[in-house]
Amino acid sequence: MAKKTIADVEVAGQTVLIRVDFNVPLDEQGNITDDRRIRMTLPTLTSVLDRGGKLILMSHLGRPTGADSDAFQFTLQAIANRLGELLDREVVFATDTVGTDAQSKVTSLQPGGILLLENLRLNPGEKKGDSDFSQALANMADIYCNDAFGSCAKPDASLFGVPKAMGNRPKVTGFLLAKEIAYLTDTISNPDRPFVAILGGAKVSDKITVIENLLDQCDKVLIGGAMAYTFALASGGTIGKSLVEPDKVDLAQKLMARGKDTLVLPVDTHCGDNFHSDCRKQIVNAGEIPANFEGLDIGPQTAAHFAEIVATAKTVVWNGPMGVFEMPPFDHGTQTVAQAIANSSATSIIGGGDSAAAIQQFGFADQVSHVSTGGGASLALLEGKAFETVAVLDDV
Ligand code: AMP
Repeated sequence: MAKKTIADVEVAGQTVLIRVDFNVPLDEQGNITDDRRIRMTLPTLTSVLDRGGKLILMSHLGRPTGADSDAFQFTLQAIANRLGELLDREVVFATDTVGTDAQSKVTSLQPGGILLLENLRLNPGEKKGDSDFSQALANMADIYCNDAFGSCAKPDASLFGVPKAMGNRPKVTGFLLAKEIAYLTDTISNPDRPFVAILGGAKVSDKITVIENLLDQCDKVLIGGAMAYTFALASGGTIGKSLVEPDKVDLAQKLMARGKDTLVLPVDTHCGDNFHSDCRKQIVNAGEIPANFEGLDIGPQTAAHFAEIVATAKTVVWNGPMGVFEMPPFDHGTQTVAQAIANSSATSIIGGGDSAAAIQQFGFADQVSHVSTGGGASLALLEGKAFETVAVLDDV
C-alpha cells in the first residue's frame, strides 16, 4: 500500500518533526567532508518551509557510547551551520533533544523556522526505542515525517516509537524515502520484463536471501564478484587461492538447481598471482583458476555476455561489484556492467553500498533511474523484507 508523503499533508502553521539521516562523514577537525546526505533532504525541507510550516529536524551522528558524549564527532552543531548555508536561512540548534533547551526553542519556533535537535543517540532512549523519549519527541509536533531511508531497518525511538506515539496525528514519508520505496519495493514487485538482477560482491553469505528472493522474481540473475567462486567450486571447478566460502558450497548447489533457467554464472575469470594491480595476470575459463592465482574480476567474455543480457532488460537491479573495482585493471567487469546499465533504457536500480560507489566512480550515476542511498536498507528490501518503521506511516 502506498504511503502518504509530505506533499499530501497541509503544513501551513504546523510543526513538522522530520527524522533525517545527517550521519555525514567528518574530518579530524569536525568539518563535514561530504554533505550529500544533507543536500538530499532539501526537497522535503523546502516543501515544508515554502508552505509556511515549522521544521524540527532530528538525526543520529556516529555511535556515541556515553563516556565520549562530549566528543566533537557526536555533535550536530556543524551540520546546523552547513544546513543554514545550503538553505540560506537561519537554522536554530538545540543543545539537547528533549531537554530544556529544545523545549524552549520549540516554543519560540515560527512558521518558516528551522530547529535542529542535538544527536539523538546522545540519549540512551533512542537505541532502546524508549517510550518516554518517543513520547517527549512526539509531543513537540503536529506532523511526523520520516526521510531517513538508510536508518529504516532499525526500530529506534525516532523511527518507530515516535510515529507510534503520534497517535492520530499525520505520519508521512519525505520525498527521499518515498523514492526509495517506489523503486526498491513497488518497481521490483511489479517489474516490466525481462527483469534482470546482477549480484556481486565479496560473499555469498551476505546475499543468500537476496539471491533466493530475486531468483523467484527475475527472468535472469547474473552472478559476479568473489561470490562466483563458491558457485564455481560447487560446480566441481578449481578456484586457486580465490576468496571462497567452502561452507556455502551446498547452498550454492541448491541455488544452481533451483535457478537452472535463471542463474547465469561467469564463463571466464580475470585472475592474478596476488592482490595487486601489478600482479601477474591471466584470463582463464571459470573453474580453471591455477593453484597460485586468485580470481579478481569476471573475464571479458562474461562481461560482454552480461552486457548483452542487460541490453535486453526492461528492469535492472544491481547490487555488488563484479570484481575488485577499486584496483584497475580488475575494475573492467564492473565498469562494463555499469556502462551497459547506463546505456540501457530499462528502469535501473542500483542497490546502494559498493555498487552505488562504483556507478559514481565511473560517472554513470546520472544515467540510471535510481541510486539507493542505503546499503543495508536496500539489501533488506531486495530480500523482500518490509520495514515496520515504514508500515507505521499513514497509507494514502
Ligand atoms: P560487498 O560488500 O559484499 O558488496 O563486497 C564488495 C567488495 O567485494 C569490494 O570491495 C570488492 O573489491 C570485493 N570483491 C569483488 N570481487 C572480488 C574478488 N573477485 N576478489 C576479492 N574481492 C572482491
